[in-house]
Amino acid sequence: MTQRSNALPPLAALTTPALTWNEGAPHATAFDDIYFTRGDGRAETEHVFLGANHLPERFAAWEASRPFVIGETGFGTGLNMLCAWACFEQHAPPNARLHLLSTEKFPLEREALEQALASWPSLASYSQALCAQWPAAVSGIHRLHLTERITLDLHFGDTTERLEQLDGQVDAWFLDGFAPSKNPDMWQPELFNAMAARSRPGATFATFTCAGIVKRGLKAAGFNWKKVPGYGRKREMLAGSIETPPADQRRQATPWFTPPSLASVKHVVVVGAGLAGSSVAAALARRGVKVTVVEREAPGAGGSGNRQGALYVKLAAETNHQSRVYLAGLLYSQRWLAKHHAKQVLWQPCGVVQLASSDKEARRQQRFMEQHPLPCEVVTSMENPALTETAEISINASHGLYYPQAGWVRPKALCEHLLSHPGVALQQGEVSSLTQLADGWQLNLADGSTLEADQVVIASAHLANRFAQTAELPLQSVRGQISELQLPKEVAGPTRVVCAGGYVAPALEGVLTFGASFVPNNATTDVTIDDHQRNIDELRQTLPALVEELAQAGIELTPEHLQGRAAVRAASPDKTPYAGPVPVTAAWQADYSLLSKDATRVADTPGEHYPGLWISTAHGSRGLASAPLCAEVIASRMCDEPMPLEAPLVDHLHPGRRIISAIIRGENA
Ligand code: SAM
Repeated sequence: MTQRSNALPPLAALTTPALTWNEGAPHATAFDDIYFTRGDGRAETEHVFLGANHLPERFAAWEASRPFVIGETGFGTGLNMLCAWACFEQHAPPNARLHLLSTEKFPLEREALEQALASWPSLASYSQALCAQWPAAVSGIHRLHLTERITLDLHFGDTTERLEQLDGQVDAWFLDGFAPSKNPDMWQPELFNAMAARSRPGATFATFTCAGIVKRGLKAAGFNWKKVPGYGRKREMLAGSIETPPADQRRQATPWFTPPSLASVKHVVVVGAGLAGSSVAAALARRGVKVTVVEREAPGAGGSGNRQGALYVKLAAETNHQSRVYLAGLLYSQRWLAKHHAKQVLWQPCGVVQLASSDKEARRQQRFMEQHPLPCEVVTSMENPALTETAEISINASHGLYYPQAGWVRPKALCEHLLSHPGVALQQGEVSSLTQLADGWQLNLADGSTLEADQVVIASAHLANRFAQTAELPLQSVRGQISELQLPKEVAGPTRVVCAGGYVAPALEGVLTFGASFVPNNATTDVTIDDHQRNIDELRQTLPALVEELAQAGIELTPEHLQGRAAVRAASPDKTPYAGPVPVTAAWQADYSLLSKDATRVADTPGEHYPGLWISTAHGSRGLASAPLCAEVIASRMCDEPMPLEAPLVDHLHPGRRIISAIIRGENA
């Protein structure tokens, strides 16, 4: 019996380091140490980190379907990681994949990164890919898809804290960071313990230093080490391995979230071709998995079927797990769209202005900014007249938030694009039930046909709990209708997405989209005058100047003049999406029943899940910000890769979370 704890380090904006430059090589003022050796830094990296971890040989022999994982302490300029990438390209078989993860507490500014990496012209294409996706200096995990087969997770924040939150295992460590004498805070026993706990059996490490504190720390944590020749004038360095890493203690507190055992992942069926299903399909196909998507109508036929949707989030004033998930999701979606759809046809990062339409909302936004120390490239707080200037349209509200990199997306076109991956087959059909087989699943379709798969992902929004295995999952249907207005030539409309209760997007091909209505417990999809009227009322409140301009151009804003589309979105009771393995509810209720008497009485039993059954749903009206990251959560777990979110946030998305809270509240006693 253990105490449950879920401590996630607070959200923080990180400080960028003060640098001096010596012929292109940066030097950190605060630590009085260098990032790399000028001139032969690349050769040094290849000797110390790549050679001593035997990477060329290990890459050449890598045949596993999961990626080879390198973990690094101190990303700095990224030289080590780029060299590892180049080495992988040179030695690994064509289908092999590489997963890089690296911590960094003081991320360089993008310009400094570019300047530092300019020292290595032979790595120019790698540097460009990195710099193009370089994230804002916000603590958390930032997943970058460098190529189809190379992923980099930047764990921004303190190394030890970040490794303690890592949900993943490492094959080879680059133990970097400024020298122990210059940076003693980092080289503490907790660091080595965290590394050991996140190591695969047989994981290796290499480090440039031979300091006693490092040798002692590594040994105490379970690593063996030996001195090997250092690079150039440095006589010695350390390399070694850990044969039997300690078990992950974190699961003792929350055994129900223990990931299910790995299953074959050769063929996966995804049920539903909305944004949740399409993004899971694309995430798996990118990993070489054969995917069949079964859709009863057409891609984006449900809540993801609008021509235009807003990519934005409405975060809670206080930081909580939900707002951390959505923030990570927003940053991921922005980066993912920028990387994959660089021409911006499917989306536009035009910026989103979020208005506070009451004093209460203005106070909430102010509290949000105090609780979320975010850099201005993510969000800034504004008052009029700056708000009107930024929005480029007259705004009445006195206060607002501005997300400069958010914007709008064509959700339906995005679904179609994601499904066009050669590894994805789309099949029309309605899955009516699921039968568990000895080693996979049979999907029974309404027309009497069947399909077999190793694993299944249910991504059918409010219909996701229609199956016997998911029937207990609480889901609410929320009707949403958008309104569309053909703008006259003389009215340009907003240039940014402006939202208050709903949103107004910049006109797309001359059509202004605004809405959407939000009608809980309603699964109808007919376009109604009432909902149009609600959207008009909302538009009048949000952008009265636009409504006035339309009136002057002779456009009367009445429901009869509008086109529209209504769809049903799914929501969970706590408004966080469900993304993860499907729990066997009855087993959880039996195994953890003691929690109803005493919430600290945690049984040792791992949570029972339907093997190979997953779910991604309840994305509400924020699926553009949540579905792509949730797809990564599911694909990463299925394919035995490090997770793109901190362990407590992965748990927060778990479809079984409500079962535990219900037991604790005594609802299943
Ligand atoms: N691996 C880097 C490269 O390839 O360019 C060089 C690393 S540089 C020598 C050391 C890095 O560790 C710096 O970027 C520094 O900001 C980072 N660092 C120092 N202390 C840290 C800590 N406690 N947590 C995370 N990063 C830290």
